[in-house]
Amino acid sequence: MTAAKTDTCTEALNDLIGSGLTGALAGLFEQMEWAEEEIEKARKRHPRHADTIYHSFKLLTPTNALMGTEFVYRSHCAELLDRVAAGQDTRPGTAAEVCCMASDSSLVAPLTDTAAGLYARMWLQAFPGHREVWGDQAPHYEALRGSLIDDLEGESRRKLSVADRKRGDTECQGMHHGDPVSCQYAPTTVPAQLELIPA
Ligand SMILES: [Zn+2]
Repeated sequence: MTAAKTDTCTEALNDLIGSGLTGALAGLFEQMEWAEEEIEKARKRHPRHADTIYHSFKLLTPTNALMGTEFVYRSHCAELLDRVAAGQDTRPGTAAEVCCMASDSSLVAPLTDTAAGLYARMWLQAFPGHREVWGDQAPHYEALRGSLIDDLEGESRRKLSVADRKRGDTECQGMHHGDPVSCQYAPTTVPAQLELIPA
């Protein structure tokens, strides 16, 4: 694959991934809505962990301006919430975050073949709805540089770790979005009639 071809492809990707940048200011509330919607979707994917996922909103703080683009941020949220359900570490970078880093780096200098291969791999994982941009290039990178891409993926996810992006103690008042719920994190209340019985 020629460098020129990779550059053209990277440009197209960057246009797509950065499409939300122009509306970034108006987007903050919208972003919160996307996060809430991703929480609802994740709760349906993982019903046994629905309460934990409900209380994971604070893990979803955007970490890159490119997350003003809806599909980028939604993918980031979905990966973190799936990790919550699986009991996995939520600190390492997500595939969407690696794509943001690859996009940022490609603006500074052309990506090496290994970096372009990582960009392709992460892109296809994070944004399956936009896989057409890579055409048939990804398998070539994987065939030629698969193990180097593995190493760079591990390193990149580590580098992008957010130290305080982890679940702490969860407090729940027994209300979700203003509605009373029976949540596993709500204090168990003593039924009123029992309190009246003298000790
Ligand atoms: Zn709760």
